[in-house]
Amino acid sequence: MKVLKFGGTSVGSSDSIKKVVDIIADYSAENTHVAMVSSAMSGVTNKLVLMGHKASQNDESYLGLLKEIEELHFDTIKDLLKVKNQSHALASVKKMLNELEDLMHGVFLLKELSLRSTDLLVSFGERLSCYIINAYCNQQGLETALLDARQLVKTDDRFGKGRVLMDVTVKNIKEYFKTHRQIQIITGFISSTDKNETTTLGRGGSDYTASIFGAALNAEEIEIWTDVDGVLTTDPRQVKKAFSLSEMTYEEAMEMSHFGAKVIYPPTLQPAFQKKIPLRIRNTFNRDFKGTLIKSLADSGDYLVKGISSIRDISLINLQGSGMVGVAGVSSRLFGVLANNNINLILITQASSEHSICFAIDPADGALAKKVIEEEFQREIEAGKIDGTIVEEHMSIVAIIGENMAHTPGISGKLFNSLGKNGINVAAIAQGSSERNLSIVISQKDISKTLNTIHEVFFLSDVNTLNVFIVGIGLIGGTLINQIREQNPKLEKDHALKINIVGMTNSKKMMFNDEGIELDNWKENLISDGDISSVSGFIDKMIEFNLQNSVFIDCTSNAEVVKGYEKVLKHSISISTPNKLASSGDLIYFKKLKSLAAKNDVKFWYETNVGAGLPVITTLNDLKNSGDKILKIEGVLSGTLSYIFNSFVEETTFSDVVKTAKEKGFTEPDPRDDLNGMDVARKILILSREVGIDLSLEDIEIKNLLPQSCIDAKSVEAFFNELEKSNDYFEKLRIGAYKAGKVLRFVAKMENSKASVGLESVDQSNPFYGLDGSDNMISYTTDRYLERPLVIKGPGAGAEVTAAGVFAEIISLSHFLV
Ligand code: ADP
Ligand code: ASP
Ligand code: MG
Repeated sequence: MKVLKFGGTSVGSSDSIKKVVDIIADYSAENTHVAMVSSAMSGVTNKLVLMGHKASQNDESYLGLLKEIEELHFDTIKDLLKVKNQSHALASVKKMLNELEDLMHGVFLLKELSLRSTDLLVSFGERLSCYIINAYCNQQGLETALLDARQLVKTDDRFGKGRVLMDVTVKNIKEYFKTHRQIQIITGFISSTDKNETTTLGRGGSDYTASIFGAALNAEEIEIWTDVDGVLTTDPRQVKKAFSLSEMTYEEAMEMSHFGAKVIYPPTLQPAFQKKIPLRIRNTFNRDFKGTLIKSLADSGDYLVKGISSIRDISLINLQGSGMVGVAGVSSRLFGVLANNNINLILITQASSEHSICFAIDPADGALAKKVIEEEFQREIEAGKIDGTIVEEHMSIVAIIGENMAHTPGISGKLFNSLGKNGINVAAIAQGSSERNLSIVISQKDISKTLNTIHEVFFLSDVNTLNVFIVGIGLIGGTLINQIREQNPKLEKDHALKINIVGMTNSKKMMFNDEGIELDNWKENLISDGDISSVSGFIDKMIEFNLQNSVFIDCTSNAEVVKGYEKVLKHSISISTPNKLASSGDLIYFKKLKSLAAKNDVKFWYETNVGAGLPVITTLNDLKNSGDKILKIEGVLSGTLSYIFNSFVEETTFSDVVKTAKEKGFTEPDPRDDLNGMDVARKILILSREVGIDLSLEDIEIKNLLPQSCIDAKSVEAFFNELEKSNDYFEKLRIGAYKAGKVLRFVAKMENSKASVGLESVDQSNPFYGLDGSDNMISYTTDRYLERPLVIKGPGAGAEVTAAGVFAEIISLSHFLV
């Protein structure tokens, strides 16, 4: 025989009930004897509880809820039953509902709802659902009979969560089934005392009912039918990538359920385990899927851990004091007083110094726990030996579970490393000596991030996800988004990496999607559906998402965004940016950002600040970190100035060359913003700082290139007029160089802790001599590269190469984060 249990969602509507009855009918057709346990229709138990609460508050709106419950059951009968069968069913259900109404009216008048009345109240859920299912089964020609479990399942009088009196219950069930051969449709969850007062087995208790019947009847298997594909690696509501487990041991299932996996009610496992009856968790809505089999010896699977579970809301209590050290009996008194007050401990840790004991409890018990502990230790507290209790609220427990964890080194290393990188603070740690469970206590706000991070680390090394937030979607940002869109399928295939753009914003609009923004029409969607944006609003929203492996990309040249970096890094989010304003701005702020990144174990990277996509800063760091000493840096660091001086040859005039450069879009709208050397000065400043020389922009010597009249000109047009008048001056410079066998180059330099930028004449022996187009070139003279400096050359400007540089940086980041 098999015992099948169907949860609330499986019997939540007439369509679902039809599916359930099909399952029963199929077993019946193949002559497998079954008994069925059912929950209340989904949502009904909650509604009953709420209704009781309202009535006890003398709030008449409980009547509305009663009406809703009535309508749900009436409608279900009308959907399922043929007209000729309806009136009898409607009358019987109405009778039950009248009884319920009388009970509620009493509660309303008395303004009081005891646990005893609550149990009676919620029992209507299962009684109603099972009545209807049985009626429908009969109509479909199945030989079924309704069984009110209160007749057989006996408990003590702890209302709300009765303790099952197993011997008498098992005896009752065996007796009953001897004489009742039809398929029994059994009410889950409900039970009664020896005085026949209604009790319940605790919320979610229908699973337990099934297990009790399965064990009593020596079933070959107990099937728990629910709305997901069995037991998944973790809660699918929190982690979208959770997947179904094919097998697990009773112990693993116990750990998972005790630590919050709602899919099985924890006490369920005990009766099945004792009788070694396998449990199978299956999906009513995916019948062909075999689900999860729970048994004694289960396949241990391919992963180090079996599953991850969590308890969302707990309070953490800490009892500490110097007087506790070495004093025997503190813990026994502590746990004794908690036990005497029925306060259940979820987790305990004690430091080996014995200076403090820390434990987790249900928040509902928090105030009571504090009171009784402080009473118990009143003398020690007054004597200053114990400091009293500290209660931390809004905490969660996350546990990793699995038989494979025992005696396997490295699991906690892996766990804590990933938590650290994602800025998740661990408040307490506990590992059972079985090593089958490692639990951590974290702040509730981090729960989703924690579950996703751990899941990624232990289960999904196949595809890692980076969650990216982009500010600035102009030329560079827009190009980057398109590059990511095009490259994502290949990254996923070849590098097991998925880049989710979770947020994007320009100065006007922002949009988010924690599963990744659809990138096909991102521009149009942002304009039509985006929300009003602000830099701080965007950053706050990103922090609120609290996603693992988050990266903030600043593709603006905006100082306001840079001000937000501090907050970003503090929240353990890495930064990658082509924006030069942080790395070449205020030195103290820049250093602070670097140390914040180090402290929070995230990256603050800006490779594209110099030479766009060329590996300029990375190479410098590689040289430095491998012990080389940087003696000199020289570079043509501006694509614009490179183009201008490479094109300024015989038979051209300087003003024409600048004009052409402007027409080709190589210059800023006012070319003086390039010719004034400021941009190049910022770049050599960034490289100098990278070498460890603390310079500021004022320290860079900028040798002016333009005659004063050009600088003073009021408009761009006036500037070009002045520039034309200065052609002779530039021509003279060019000829002078030419006669000496040299060419003009705008060069940045750093040597002996001093940096400068300016126009220079270089001869053929200088690598800058042969530059052409708008290429950048950087040469590093070091201890190792002394005679022939290390030279990096290539296109150093343009949206494509800059975006590609940022893209490469994001991919490098993935090696550190996930
Ligand atoms: P039922 O009404 O069928 O008893 P429950 O709602 O009590 O169903 O339990 C099933 C739900 O448990 C799933 O829908 C899922 O959201 C949640 N759940 C939490 N953790 C897990 C897990 N590790 N595996 C499967 N489901 C889980
Ligand atoms: N209907 C009860 C509840 O919602 C029992 C169960 O569904 O298992 O808690
Ligand atoms: Mg359940």
